Amino acid sequence: MKFQCSACGLRINSRHFKQEGLVNPQLTSICDLCIQRGEQPADFANVAVNIFAQGLLYTFIGLSDDNVQSAPFFVTKKENRKRYEAFIQDYDGNDLAQQQLPRPDFNQAVIDSEKGSLEFVPSMELTFAENLQKLGLKVDFKLNEVDYIDRERIRAKYHYRCQYCGRRGRSVDHKDPVSLSHNNDFDNLILSCQECNRIKSNMPYELFVQLNDQIPKINQKLVKYENALATLKGEFDQKRRELAATMHLKGVVNDPELNQMRKQNKKLQDAIDSLESDYKDLRSLREQHFMTGWKLMLENKKEDII
Ligand SMILES: [Zn+2]
Ligand SMILES: [Zn+2]
Repeated sequence: MKFQCSACGLRINSRHFKQEGLVNPQLTSICDLCIQRGEQPADFANVAVNIFAQGLLYTFIGLSDDNVQSAPFFVTKKENRKRYEAFIQDYDGNDLAQQQLPRPDFNQAVIDSEKGSLEFVPSMELTFAENLQKLGLKVDFKLNEVDYIDRERIRAKYHYRCQYCGRRGRSVDHKDPVSLSHNNDFDNLILSCQECNRIKSNMPYELFVQLNDQIPKINQKLVKYENALATLKGEFDQKRRELAATMHLKGVVNDPELNQMRKQNKKLQDAIDSLESDYKDLRSLREQHFMTGWKLMLENKKEDII
C-alpha cells in the first residue's frame, strides 16, 4: 500500500512512513526521505496516515488538524514526482541494490536530485542501473556471474543433470541469487535445467529446495516423461526415415505396405502427442506449486504497515 508524503508529494510504499527500530511502531506524516532532508513530521498533517495509525494502534507523528495551510509540495512538478516514485520503487524492489547501496545513501542522492544540485531527474526511459549511474551511485548487477570454464566444470561435475528435478540440465547458477558472498566456489554453484532455473529465478534457494522436497514423486515422474518422450521421438524419427527410404525404393506413393507403415507412424505420433500433453500439464502444475509457495512467503514477510 502507498501513502502520499505531505512534504514532497511523492506517492510511495507505506514502509517509508514507518519509523524503524521502535518498540511501538510510529507512522509519520512525511516520508523517510523528507525526514532525512531535515523536515519535521510534526509540522505536517496527513489525514490518510493518521487514520491508518489509529486503525492499527500506532502512534501518529504529525499534525492532527488537517485544516492547516498546506505549502506546495517540495517536488513541485507532477511529472518529476512520477519519475522519483518509479525510481524509488525500483530500489525498494531490488535486493542487490539494497545490499550494496545503503538506504540513507540512496535517499541522499534522491534528495540532492530533488534539490536540483545534481541536475538530473531519474528517467522512466532509462533502466534502473542507468538512472543509478547518472546519480553517481554504483551497484554491480553482475557480481555473481560465473565464467565459461567454471560452467563447463560444474556441468561435468553434476553429469548434466538438474540437481532439483533430475532431468537433463545445463544452467549453472548460484544457490542464492541475491547472495553477495561473491563466492564462485563449487559448493556455491549448482546445475539445473532451464525450467527449474526459470521457476527459481529470484526465489531464495532454501525456499525453492524446501518446496521441491515436498514433491519427490512428481520429479521422478518428470524424469520418466523426459526419458519416454526422448525414446519415442527417436523411434518415430527412425520409422519416418524407413518410410521415406521404402517409398524411394518402390518409386510409388500409394502402396499397401507404405500405407501400413503410415498407419503405424500415425499411432506412434498420437501416443507421443498424448504423452506430451500429460507432461505439459504436470509441469505447469508443478510450477504453480512453486509460485504459490513463493507468493505466500512474500506475503508473509511483506514490509507493509498492516
Ligand atoms: Zn517526502
Ligand atoms: Zn530441473
